Amino acid sequence: MAAIDLRSDTVTLPTAAMREAISRAELGDDVFSEDPTINRLEAMMAERTGMEAGLLVASGTMGNITSLLTHCGRGEEVILGDSAHIFLNEAGGLSALGGMVVHTIPNQPDGTLRLEDIEGAIRADNIHFPRTRLVCLENTHNRCSGAALTPEYTAAVTALAKRRGLLVHLDGARLFNAAVALGVDCRELTQGIDSVNVCLSKGLAAPVGSVICGNRAFIARARRTRKMLGGGMRQAGIIAAAGIVALEQMVDRLAEDHANARRLAAGIAAIAGLATDPARVQTNILYCDLRPGRFSDQEFLDRLAQKGLRVSHTGPARFRMLTHWGISAADIDAALAILAAVMKG
Ligand SMILES: *Cc1c(COP(=O)(O)O)cnc(C)c1O
Repeated sequence: MAAIDLRSDTVTLPTAAMREAISRAELGDDVFSEDPTINRLEAMMAERTGMEAGLLVASGTMGNITSLLTHCGRGEEVILGDSAHIFLNEAGGLSALGGMVVHTIPNQPDGTLRLEDIEGAIRADNIHFPRTRLVCLENTHNRCSGAALTPEYTAAVTALAKRRGLLVHLDGARLFNAAVALGVDCRELTQGIDSVNVCLSKGLAAPVGSVICGNRAFIARARRTRKMLGGGMRQAGIIAAAGIVALEQMVDRLAEDHANARRLAAGIAAIAGLATDPARVQTNILYCDLRPGRFSDQEFLDRLAQKGLRVSHTGPARFRMLTHWGISAADIDAALAILAAVMKG
């Protein structure tokens, strides 16, 4: 029996169309900006996000650190949510590599940062203080149940930032999930943003890569930062070829993943001993709590795995499940049957 793997949408394998596109890709040396396939992907992503230019990077983490290092100097301060992927899951790169000062403020359950919290975190001009440079948002918000930030909220943050002379970076690893869930154009979610990072290798199912977008001057500087990080890849059009297929063929179908996540949440809510809030599931991510007493977290994971279901462990008695290409509605029903059987003992 093949395992139903709900640990992450990064486990998706490239589609047949992607493998075909990889084998046919026209290539060149991208350090000389001469890979036509990469140039095409970068232009496509810039167009989709309403930005002037794009830059292919090896991963979402590389997209975020390349953007932050391009925006901020050592000793400058970054305001970000205390549940942000950049804060929790990127090995502290902004401090380790960039000497940036991290100023966290609470993420609300819907993934937002309160405007008054952002305002309150901005430093006065005083020689005792670091200089505040950047605010980071995340859309969809991974730790906040895949919540989608709206165009109205994003506009409110960018207006505040502009008024206070700050830049805004958007970690849009799953930006297309947000656009599909809200029924809006990506450009509405990036309006006023200075840089955005979009992953190709999550729900869009490409094997490798992310694209960062911004204005031409930012991308020109980011190209140097990427080189410094060792990310000047040569014939990486083999990566970009799959990314183009991802943008052309894999965006609209994200709605299926969202429907499957809602189906999963409704089913879990009906299983005694498990708790999840179906009302919070907007996209393809859900968190589920195991009521204490029955099993240890490891026993729960082991029992699920024995029956062919893999989920990720994200905290004491807390588990995360993601739907993605390769998970059908029938797989969701099978996953629910396994969860119910394990909880029955
Ligand atoms: C996955 C993810 C990233 C990083 O992407 P990698 O390709 O795994 O480095 C960044 N931000 C968010 C919100 C993510 O979910």
